[in-house]
Amino acid sequence: MVSRTQAHSQPLPWRQELRQAINSPRDLLAALDLPPDLLPGAQSGHELFRVRAPWPFVQRMRKGDPHDPLLRQVLPLELETKNPGHFLADPVGDLSSRQTPGLLHKYQGRVLLIAGGACAINCRYCFRREYPYAGNSAVSDHFASALRYIAEHNDVHEVILSGGDPLLLATARLREFTDALLAIPHIRRLRLHSRIPIVLPSRITDNFVAWIKELAWPVTLVLHGNHANEVDEAVIQGLNRLRQAGAILLNQAVLLRGINDHATHQAALAETLFDAGVLPYYLHLLDQVRGSAHFEVSASEASALMQQLRRQLPGYLVPRLVREEAGAPYKIPLL
Ligand SMILES: *Cc1c(COP(=O)(O)O)cnc(C)c1O
Ligand code: SF4
Repeated sequence: MVSRTQAHSQPLPWRQELRQAINSPRDLLAALDLPPDLLPGAQSGHELFRVRAPWPFVQRMRKGDPHDPLLRQVLPLELETKNPGHFLADPVGDLSSRQTPGLLHKYQGRVLLIAGGACAINCRYCFRREYPYAGNSAVSDHFASALRYIAEHNDVHEVILSGGDPLLLATARLREFTDALLAIPHIRRLRLHSRIPIVLPSRITDNFVAWIKELAWPVTLVLHGNHANEVDEAVIQGLNRLRQAGAILLNQAVLLRGINDHATHQAALAETLFDAGVLPYYLHLLDQVRGSAHFEVSASEASALMQQLRRQLPGYLVPRLVREEAGAPYKIPLL
C-alpha cells in the first residue's frame, strides 16, 4: 500500500509524462527511426516554435514514416521559414478583442479565457503559435480582473476556458476559478477547449472527473483531434469517464493538407470519435498564421470534401466547415 506521505511526494503521472515529453527535433526523429537528413529542416522550424510532443501521442505514430499524420502535426519543417506575406502573426485578431489580460470577448454571450500559457503539445499549424502568452493568462495571473469583467457584463452567459490548454492547470486551480464564478448569476454554461484528453489522457484523473461532475452548470468539452489514429484505448477510457461525469463531448478539427484532407480521413475521424461518445463540432479552415502555409487547403477544395463527406455520413456526424475572420461576429460557415 502507498502511504499518504509517499502519495503526496510523488508527482502525478500526467505531470511526469509532461516533463518527459519530447522537446527536440533530434529526439523526435530518433523515437520514430527517421533518417537524420530531416534534422536541419526540423531544427530551423524548431527555432521559430519549439517541438513538444508527449510520449502517449508519439506512441500512436508509425515508425519510419515521415508522412505519418500524427507526426506531421508536430515535426517542424524548413517550409515554416518560407512565408507568404498574407500569413500573419495574429491572423484572427485575438489581440484586438482582448478586454482584460487573457480575456477575449469577440462573440455575443460568451467570453473566452486564455487559461494558461502552455500546451501539452505544440501543433505546427497553431494559430496562437506567436501569441504573447506571458502575462496574458486570465486564470493563472489575472483571475480578479477577468472575473470582474464577467460580473460587469450580464449579457455574458458562457465562459470558455481555452488556451494554451486549460487542463494543464491543477484541478485545484480550476476549482478555485469555478467556485469564484458561482457568485456570478448570469453564467449558465461552462465550456472547456482542450486537446489534452487526446494527447495526454492520464490527465483525466479521479479528482478532475469529480470536479466536472460537481460543476453547477452544464459543461461542454470541445476536444481537438484531427485524425482517427489519435484515438486509442486510453483516450476512449478517459472520454467515457468524462461523459459519465455529465460532460457533453464535441470535437473541433483543423483541415490540414497531407494530414486529413480527404473525405475518407474525415469520415474515419467522425466515426471513431462517435464510438467514443464525441460528436463533431467545427472543421476549421486553416488560420493563416506565419509558418503554416504548407498546411493550407483552399476553401473550394474544402467544400468539395464536405460534399463527399455528406454522402458518406449521417448529418449529425458531419462537422460544420468554418473560417475565422478577424472582426467577424461569428465563425463564418462555408458550404
Ligand atoms: C472560437 C471562439 C469562441 C467560440 O465560438 P463558438 O462559435 O461559440 O464555438 C469564442 N470566443 C472566441 C474569442 C473564439 O475565438
Ligand atoms: S493544442 Fe491547440 S492551442 Fe495548443 S498548440 Fe495545439 S492547436 Fe495550438
